[in-house]
Amino acid sequence: MIELRNVSKTYKPSKRVAVNALSNINLLFKEKGFVVLTGESGSGKTTLLNILAGLDVYTQGDMLIDGISTKRIKEKTWDEYRNKRVGIVFQNYSLLEEFSVKKNVSLALELQRISDKKDWVEWALDKVNMYDCMDKRVNKLSGGQKQRVAIARAIVKDPQIILADEPTGNLDTTNSEEIFELLKDLSKEHLVVVITHNVELANKYADRIIRLVDGEVVEDTKLTNELLEEPTKEKSLPPKGLKVSSILGLGLSSMAKQWFRLLATIMMLIVMLTSIGIALGVSRYSKNSLIAEAIIQGNNSLLPINKYTEDNVFSKEDEKWLKANGYKCIPIIKNDNYLVFNRYGVATGVNGSIGLFNEEISLKKYYSMQPNGFVAIEDIKECGCEYDLVKGAWPSNSFEVCITKYSASVLMADGAGVRLSGSTLDLEDSRAITMDEIIGAPVRVNDNTLVTITGIVDTKLDDKYFDAKKENYEELFEELKGIHNVIFATKAFVDNVLTFNPILRIAYPAFAMVGDLYMFRAQGNALVYPIDKLQKMGNYTYDFMNGDKILDENEILVSKGFFISLLNERAGRIDYSSKTENIDNIIRSEIESGFSFSSTVKSSLNNETQDIKSITLKVVGITDAQRPVVSASLNDLVDTTIATRSTTYLVAVNNLDVDSLIKLNETFGIATSQIYDINSVSNRANQVKVLGVLLGILFGVLSIITMYDFMQSTIKGNYRHIGILRALGTNKKDIYLIYSVEVIVLAMVSIVLAMLALNPIMQYLDSSSYAQEKLGVSLFETRAIDYVLIVIVGTIVTFASAIVVMHLSLKRTIIDLIYKK
Ligand code: ADP
Ligand code: MG
Repeated sequence: MIELRNVSKTYKPSKRVAVNALSNINLLFKEKGFVVLTGESGSGKTTLLNILAGLDVYTQGDMLIDGISTKRIKEKTWDEYRNKRVGIVFQNYSLLEEFSVKKNVSLALELQRISDKKDWVEWALDKVNMYDCMDKRVNKLSGGQKQRVAIARAIVKDPQIILADEPTGNLDTTNSEEIFELLKDLSKEHLVVVITHNVELANKYADRIIRLVDGEVVEDTKLTNELLEEPTKEKSLPPKGLKVSSILGLGLSSMAKQWFRLLATIMMLIVMLTSIGIALGVSRYSKNSLIAEAIIQGNNSLLPINKYTEDNVFSKEDEKWLKANGYKCIPIIKNDNYLVFNRYGVATGVNGSIGLFNEEISLKKYYSMQPNGFVAIEDIKECGCEYDLVKGAWPSNSFEVCITKYSASVLMADGAGVRLSGSTLDLEDSRAITMDEIIGAPVRVNDNTLVTITGIVDTKLDDKYFDAKKENYEELFEELKGIHNVIFATKAFVDNVLTFNPILRIAYPAFAMVGDLYMFRAQGNALVYPIDKLQKMGNYTYDFMNGDKILDENEILVSKGFFISLLNERAGRIDYSSKTENIDNIIRSEIESGFSFSSTVKSSLNNETQDIKSITLKVVGITDAQRPVVSASLNDLVDTTIATRSTTYLVAVNNLDVDSLIKLNETFGIATSQIYDINSVSNRANQVKVLGVLLGILFGVLSIITMYDFMQSTIKGNYRHIGILRALGTNKKDIYLIYSVEVIVLAMVSIVLAMLALNPIMQYLDSSSYAQEKLGVSLFETRAIDYVLIVIVGTIVTFASAIVVMHLSLKRTIIDLIYKK
């Protein structure tokens, strides 16, 4: 049935010399009989038995089972062989110590899915005289008892081959003889191969004695002839897997052995998975989208935007950008110097007239705001916004305005008083102004225009928010720059009384006496013509006397008269005029030799002049236009640099989405108190974000290492366990299953706990940022996808490390696993 042909086994321990445990063994084993293997210690007996059992691999020769070479048979066939056909009694018992006697024995049966195993188990235990100890745990047994259980486990499945390595090594004479009786009995139907040093018993029971010396067969004595008889062979079933309950039991018991390490690993995994969740949550923090969210949630319909440049003033180009990007907006038109309340029209010294307490205002910062400027009520309608009046009526002509509730409160609280008596205004002689008295009060604009307050507008200022923050003036300041502190006027007033065209002018050099050139934005008043507009007008001619007939930014066309005065100023001595002989030739030759003058492009607004650019202008031709002609690009410079009369624009947000809001805030600064608050929490939030992401990565890496290490030590600690199960015929799949119990528990516990921990941690991070308290919005939030990722990462990390480690360990031979070599 089993034939060894020239079988050799060489051990090659990694750093030591190779050992030839077996050399050129040729043996034939029949279907039954009692074969005894003897020899000195180290002669190769155990090695030979392990090879016969399919637990170890030979290095040379061949082993044939039922005439079939085992050189290239499948793993599954080996499992079947070990499972069905061989019963092994190990030298060191190799029992599962933490299980009962019964379980150890029945496990061997279970692998074949034999259902009515109870009888069989009882029969086997009875045979080895261990029936009474059936329910004892193996680690409570004596050596002799363990040996008996090991034999019971080997014989319970009624294998064709029983292999026993010194089964009586730990037994006394009486017990030894009983065991040999039993084995002898079994050898009538089975092949029994027993290693023993007991010569007496060997001679008494053996049918055949094989003696090994240094890995070679030196004696092979057949004592009976019965060995030749072939019994009827039972067709073997393919091996089955373990029952689910056994897989669970085995897996859980393996976990219990390493509970501390298991706990540590679970902790580590929780930390890792939670930190991944945190990292995801905090990484999503974006100041801009938070700002957008806060604005959309808030009740502002017109948002103030600022330009954070040196002069804070919006240019025509900014206005164009806003319009081109679909933002509906209104400029808050600044008036000259002082606006209104400190030029409050009063009849001095008359009882009942209204005066101002400037000192008082300055003491209370919250009430120190002068109105920001004027907005046209028609523009507000255009933006789709509506405000209600607290009192009075909307302005109906250029001499009427409305103020806001906030502006009124400034006047009522500290700003103004009504004279009671006397000629000077002091606290004793006055009383506070009432809202009724504000209506109809005169306000001075531009130092000379008097207008009347006709109403008070409710701009939906969040009173609660602002009352709570009056002391924290800085935050309120931002908000008060907007709609809450403007003066509502008619469009006619804003356009005609307040607005006039800003100017771009080009200055002549110091020696010039012509005076500056003014270029008005409005075409009609232009003192300098941009060439593209001039060409559209069509009825002017120009003579490019030099160059490429294209007007570059530093080139200018002037009229003949203009050029003559330029020439005169430069020359100082010669008196040129249009009547001068050859004047055209002089002009031509001057232009051809590159006549130029240095100049400064300036913008002029509210009588304040600002330098935009120093430039050397080269005269390249003569035109019959009344004004000097400049390039289109110089005209563009007017558009990009010339200021509007506003440092704040109000943008309608009713119809804006998050993206437009973000874009707006990136281009300009949205100036509300909320944004101020967001900016103040933003640094911290960004720190948390960076820290969170870094920790996420760090813990991620750390716990993959921990996880791998844990699996490795778990599996290593269980090599013997795995080896025994494999020796009993458990297939690799079942081994994976047993250990996957552990992995599943590990993964599930960690994943669930990590998911439970994530939300409170995020809440804590969020509340510690004060964003909730201040703004009513969350900085950090977890999303469903975070939980999904935790599950995915947790599963992958645990299972991947388990599979890698299991795969590596199952590559070892079974005997290596059992003896943990
Ligand atoms: P026996 O069972 O007759 O005492 P063994 O089969 O256990 O002998 O061992 C035979 C020889 O092989 C001995 O020299 C032993 O040291 C060596 N040997 C056994 N197992 C290993 C191993 N895993 N690695 C290296 N050498 C081994
Ligand atoms: Mg041995």
